[in-house]
Amino acid sequence: MQSMDALLTEDQRRIVASVDRFAERHLPPDEVRRRDREHIPPYDLLPAMGEAGFFALGVPADMGGLGLDWTHVALVQDRLGRHGYMAASIFNRVVGFGLSSVLTYGSPAQKAAFLPGLMTGTFFIALALTEPGAGSDAAAIRTRARRTANGYAISGNKIWISDAKGARYLLTAARTGPEPTGANGITLFLVPSDAKGIALNPLAKIGNNCMPSFDVGFDEVEVGEDAVIGEVGNGFRHLMSTLHFSRASMAATVTGAAQAALGGVVAHATTREQFGRPIASFQVIAHRLADLQIRIDLSRLMVGHLATLIARGLPCRRESAQAKIVATETLRDVADQGMQIMASAGYSAESDIQRFWRDSRLYTFGEGANEVLRDSIARDLGLHAKGRP
Ligand SMILES: Cc1cc2nc3c(=O)[nH]c(=O)nc-3n(C[C@H](O)[C@H](O)[C@H](O)COP(=O)(O)OP(=O)(O)OC[C@H]3O[C@@H](n4cnc5c(N)ncnc54)[C@H](O)[C@@H]3O)c2cc1C
Repeated sequence: MQSMDALLTEDQRRIVASVDRFAERHLPPDEVRRRDREHIPPYDLLPAMGEAGFFALGVPADMGGLGLDWTHVALVQDRLGRHGYMAASIFNRVVGFGLSSVLTYGSPAQKAAFLPGLMTGTFFIALALTEPGAGSDAAAIRTRARRTANGYAISGNKIWISDAKGARYLLTAARTGPEPTGANGITLFLVPSDAKGIALNPLAKIGNNCMPSFDVGFDEVEVGEDAVIGEVGNGFRHLMSTLHFSRASMAATVTGAAQAALGGVVAHATTREQFGRPIASFQVIAHRLADLQIRIDLSRLMVGHLATLIARGLPCRRESAQAKIVATETLRDVADQGMQIMASAGYSAESDIQRFWRDSRLYTFGEGANEVLRDSIARDLGLHAKGRP
């Protein structure tokens, strides 16, 4: 047991044990490898995760949830990240984009309509924000929602939308105001993914095989006024107000993944012998492994601090950026140095470290590129006051 695990409350221990039981049953290591090899998304696991109560953990009791705070949600994310990133990724989609959005800016009618299905794992919501010309500069989106007699007609092109095909709804950002660019005049819509006028084209990529990505075309997609979630024209600020949930989710998840990746490298380094001794007995390798464990523990501390801030409803924009940066760069470096330590055994398509290596390249630029997040931290320090992008 790790020292941080020793500090868990009884409730938290029960949650960890329940995630471990779920993973033993549904995601043993060979199944994780098979799903990655065969590009099988984890959508079939959603009802079992719902039944285990994972999605209801952070939902207030008066809305049908278990009423626990974000520290418990972060535990599930870390633990799922250890067992299989694919399960953690779909968990984060339900919790980070779906539940957080509906709970934070959904109307009472939307809460009643969406919360039960999200909590039971009946369906999930994907985020459709990025466009070919609007990546880090997300406020540059051009997709437009035109007012019609009955609601809106949405036209535009989104790119790199994860799990768009499995999702029942796309949380779609589109312009409703006159502004051609910028944060003002953007509205969020919950658009059924099978609505007339939506075209999904799969994108080929190098990692995260169980999280299919799509180019999503919107051609005069008609939705009613009840598809609007939050205030008309204020959607960008709504998204920004919930970003700490998705960054906290990613930070917790990749911390668990880094622990799993390092475990595999340590196991290899202690059994692989060269020059008549285990390679872990060479100090250069032992110290490298020790440094990586220090960084994982640091990530876990930052995630724990962030989760406590979220649980207490305190501001955490900077802490969520910092935790996301530290955790994603830790996993990237565990995977990269793990590959060096495992050498040919790691380069084999059969190894687990190659999966972490491929997958980890996404996280330092997804959910806010680390460069852009560093910029926001620098602004907090009073730097870049003028001439910032
Ligand atoms: C597999 C995958 C899944 C994704 N899933 C989703 C999804 O579900 N929904 C969704 O909406 N989007 C999704 N995205 C999009 C993702 O959020 C974007 O890739 C990300 O925002 C970065 O945008 P970009 O790729 O266009 O890079 P760019 O914005 O072109 O950035 C390129 C480089 O320039 C740097 N840069 C940019 N601006 C600055 C600046 N001001 N200062 C310093 N450096 C800067 C960046 O850090 C980066 O290194 C996904 C992407 C991928 C690859």
